[in-house]
Amino acid sequence: MKRETEYPIFNNAADSLERGMRMYLDESYTNAHKYAILAVYRAVELFLKDALYRINPILIYADIDKRVQEDPRTVGYKEALARLENLSVHINEQSKKSIERLQNRRNTIEHREYRPFDSDRSYRADAIKVLYDFVPQYLKDEELSIYIDDDLWRELQMFILDYEKLVTEATAQVDELISVPPGDYGPEVVHCPQCGNATLVIKGKDKQDYCCFCRRFVAMECCCDCSEYYPAELLEEVSMCLDCLRALGDKD
Ligand SMILES: [Zn+2]
Ligand SMILES: [Zn+2]
Repeated sequence: MKRETEYPIFNNAADSLERGMRMYLDESYTNAHKYAILAVYRAVELFLKDALYRINPILIYADIDKRVQEDPRTVGYKEALARLENLSVHINEQSKKSIERLQNRRNTIEHREYRPFDSDRSYRADAIKVLYDFVPQYLKDEELSIYIDDDLWRELQMFILDYEKLVTEATAQVDELISVPPGDYGPEVVHCPQCGNATLVIKGKDKQDYCCFCRRFVAMECCCDCSEYYPAELLEEVSMCLDCLRALGDKD
């Protein structure tokens, strides 16, 4: 039997996570994954807030110099992360990237449109894995599992295992694609903007950029200044990345 804590934000977060899981498992409704993404992202934000709340409830408010009654806005994910870092609660870089990817996806859904993507499967596992690693870390003596329905918890672990298996398979395919005779230069491997894994091989398949995890072509373009790879549509008109453009602007 699952339990509830004395922490209201935690209970809210666990409920969002469960809702997200249920939506992911719902095959009867075509757009269920849309609500799953929103719910899991909400769970991430709430768990971060809960971590702050346990240190001191006042820390969840955006402006802690004002009286809470006057300004009850609470922190977003970026501020929450920064505060936690300052309080020596660290979240690894990989997890931060996972949260950011999920946030971007959620923003697109919230403000523009929802179209199902193959990569949603990886976002989901990715974000759930963040919670799986991070929540027990700040709960210290407790386990997240006791607050989640037994059936959902098993599903949640399956998602993660399944995801890790897919990453391993993709990595093996990358190794195949980039293996060349000694002395030759193999194709370059970069992080895929869609799934976030280092599984995108530049000109890896049929002379096109191919992500072995997403199993799809993802057109990339090289910034003419810093030589980093970016999604082709971002560099379409200028062939230079935003950072380099900005640096150029600063110089003028
Ligand atoms: Zn990918
Ligand atoms: Zn650049």
